[in-house]
Amino acid sequence: MSLAEKSALVTGSTSGIGLGIALGLAREGANIMLNGFGDQAAIEKIKADIAALGVKVEYDAADMTKPDQIAEIVAKTESAFGSLDILINNAGVQHVAPIESFPAAKWEFIIALNLSSSFYTMQAAIPGMKARKWGRIINIASAHGLVASPQKAGYVAAKHGLVGLTKVAALELASFGITANAICPGWVLTPLVETQLAARAAQEGRTVADVTHEFVAEKQPLAEFTTTDHIAGMVVFLCSDNAKTITGAPLSIDGGWVAQ
Ligand code: NAD
Repeated sequence: MSLAEKSALVTGSTSGIGLGIALGLAREGANIMLNGFGDQAAIEKIKADIAALGVKVEYDAADMTKPDQIAEIVAKTESAFGSLDILINNAGVQHVAPIESFPAAKWEFIIALNLSSSFYTMQAAIPGMKARKWGRIINIASAHGLVASPQKAGYVAAKHGLVGLTKVAALELASFGITANAICPGWVLTPLVETQLAARAAQEGRTVADVTHEFVAEKQPLAEFTTTDHIAGMVVFLCSDNAKTITGAPLSIDGGWVAQ
């Protein structure tokens, strides 16, 4: 196990990509601080699944739009495990509407969760990483951190901002053994995308199964979903010694979406 002795905070890890990353890091021996919302019994099951991999696991329900709760979950990770070595900024939401009718509250919420939360987690976690001269900061951006789609103003703005924030962190931390990178996935079949597929099917009076292929193929020449395990594999690689000089990079895993 390549990450034994390391500890990770994975924001938004009760579902989807974050959960896949938490499991992938735990399989490599990292202790895991889970975060996100959801049914208590389901969260207990995730904790048990991770503990069964032989690592320590804790859960904290910090709302990642709240800077004070962010500071607390970082401190809690450090006190529970002795360090926070791997920071995965993953929690994020989507809202789809044209700019002129995009609700201001949704805009503020998406910027707070999909962008500002990463600034605050880094601010809290960097001092410990610097002291230990090792750290991995991995921001889950999106293909929408590199190119736009209509009706996703909040999401596209936040993800482009997150790619920029990642580059600044990489420059500031380059001489401290700490790398900062952004993973930019295309379509991954999680609740976030299931909602968009259901909306598309309802709008067109078709079934979800009917609309799925064209939904993926519209954006991706390689018209397959990336899986949460694929993303976890990329995260584990970025935490490895072979990736020690990869920093400040927006790394696409998107079926060719942004190659066009
Ligand atoms: P998801 O809806 O399955 O999971 C989102 C997670 O964030 C959940 O654990 C949820 O409880 C948590 N969360 C929501 N609000 C929160 C808050 N205020 N505080 C703390 N946690 C909160 O979504 P997903 O598809 O797994 O998305 C994860 C990340 O990956 C997001 O940043 C998303 O933008 C990004 N992403 C997803 C895709 C995709 O196709 N699914 C593609 C590119 C990027």
